[in-house]
Amino acid sequence: MAYQEKINLRTTTLGEGFTIKRALPNKKQRMIGAWCFLDHAGPISFQPGQAMHVGPHPHIGLQTFTWMIQGEVLHQDSLGYEQIISPGQVNLMTAGNGITHAENTLDEQSGVLHLAQLWIALPEKQRQMPPKFEHYTHLPIIQQNGFTITLLVGSLLKKISPVHVYTPLIAADLMCTEESVFNFPLNPNFEYGVLILAGEATIDGELFSKEHLLYLSTGHQHIHLQAKNARVLIIGGEPFTEDRIIWWNFVAPTQAEIETAVHQWKTGQHFQTVPNAQGQPLPVPELAGIKLKSNLNH
Ligand code: MN
Repeated sequence: MAYQEKINLRTTTLGEGFTIKRALPNKKQRMIGAWCFLDHAGPISFQPGQAMHVGPHPHIGLQTFTWMIQGEVLHQDSLGYEQIISPGQVNLMTAGNGITHAENTLDEQSGVLHLAQLWIALPEKQRQMPPKFEHYTHLPIIQQNGFTITLLVGSLLKKISPVHVYTPLIAADLMCTEESVFNFPLNPNFEYGVLILAGEATIDGELFSKEHLLYLSTGHQHIHLQAKNARVLIIGGEPFTEDRIIWWNFVAPTQAEIETAVHQWKTGQHFQTVPNAQGQPLPVPELAGIKLKSNLNH
């Protein structure tokens, strides 16, 4: 049976003490389609001289997807890419069998930072592919019922996003200033998450703020959105059916693979360095892996 659930977000810190809201994974919902991580950072105002620094760190088994709303961040990776991401743009880094990257705000920055970073679990066929990095400056924009919709991933209302993913997914940013009402069409084979990025919105008759994630199971035809001066992120996908564990920056089917990656990072093996990286490489924290998906009864 189709159902929906309002989930409270966790507050955590990023880099040097910036507060962020973590929507995925959470206790009630580990993944939404292949989306396995969702952080909403900001809007944060910087004092002169302040900055966000995330030093070089490794990833395997996933794609990192960064949606820039306000501000700028410099991405540097072990493939040699150096890319500033600005508002309205997407950075997509496919970690595959292993990549290292650093993310830092610029010395010359606009004093504000607002972004969403999501991770996408790679399916078996692609999870050990060679790493790659893509930067998207132009995404389809749809004007609909007072909403400006940026199609980040997948297809919607006859538009297709160029962002390259490996499982059936959607992501869309909806923004409105005037009072707007829209029946957002859903694929009944997808599950969905709705996150408020700014303001608040009434969804299927219930008021949501930035403190909550709305989860919708498969089997829904649409969601009814009503908002004014608001910004909403909708993500969705076909339920991911492979076993996955998430531990720090690693996503893999088994604990053994995660432990191998941890050992490799600690001992300077396998993962390449980032040329001209800002900041020190991040140490592996002591924490337990979270099982994202398991079809085994253990
Ligand atoms: Mn990262």
